[in-house]
Amino acid sequence: MSIKYVPKELPIDDNVNVTRRHPLKNFIYLLGTVVIISIIIFVLLGYTASWLATRIGADNEIRVGKLLYNTISETEVIDDRRIYYLDELLHDMLDVDEIARLPLTIHLLDTEIVNAAIMPGGHVLINTGLLQKVKSENELAFILSHELGHFQHQDPLKSLGRSLVVVSALAAVGIGTSSSSGGLSDIVSWTGELTILHYSRNQETKADEYGLARVINHYGHGGHSLDFFNGFQKFEDGERQLSQVSQYFASHPENQERIDYLNTLAVQKGWNMEGELTSLPDWIHCPDMDEEQCEAEN
Ligand SMILES: [Zn+2]
Repeated sequence: MSIKYVPKELPIDDNVNVTRRHPLKNFIYLLGTVVIISIIIFVLLGYTASWLATRIGADNEIRVGKLLYNTISETEVIDDRRIYYLDELLHDMLDVDEIARLPLTIHLLDTEIVNAAIMPGGHVLINTGLLQKVKSENELAFILSHELGHFQHQDPLKSLGRSLVVVSALAAVGIGTSSSSGGLSDIVSWTGELTILHYSRNQETKADEYGLARVINHYGHGGHSLDFFNGFQKFEDGERQLSQVSQYFASHPENQERIDYLNTLAVQKGWNMEGELTSLPDWIHCPDMDEEQCEAEN
């Protein structure tokens, strides 16, 4: 390809008949090509990275999981009966002959933010804020099973692979590399945050399907399991403020759409979506040490 250069001293008006395409157009064309090729490379890298990430092996996943977990800044509640309860409920949700890909560890994090997540290496993060808002074991069981579904499908690893590409690309153009802390630790912590939030719509649907199937398995019905997601109007009555639950929903698809889909799926599969509510333990909102105070409040 040859490019015709126009002598600088010529007035712009004379250029029109000299070049077939204005230099600015050429530049935009070139820039556009570079951007499109970069996006294609970026997307391919993302797919490759997420594919590779699922092949790092159990030992490496455990190592990466520990590294990522250490970037979580919330205070972890330790030696509390709520942890044992959550651990038992989570394991009860596995199918009869199903085993978790890796040993699962419940981490109860002391924060008002309503959230739950699962990380590579089998770290299950449950915020105390979530325990304050759930009204039945059925709701909690669905949330735990949904997260378990992500883990069994290796979603956290895939997301980690993609996030590494995103963060590396941002770092390459100088975004996110603060001078105060080291590049790698930045990348790891950024990746950790991105990992928690970024699943595709398809991954969410699959996790929902898995979650509801396990709930049906465990309780024999899906009654009350979707109450937590049952429309935002419920959350606006002051009982469950929208702002308090937004963190969980920010990372999850439109709730009404999700509930409608799951109800349709239940009809197709012949799953019963009506049934008795299983109560949470009375002490679910209370740390061990505040038992008396908690009972007085509730
Ligand atoms: Zn999810």
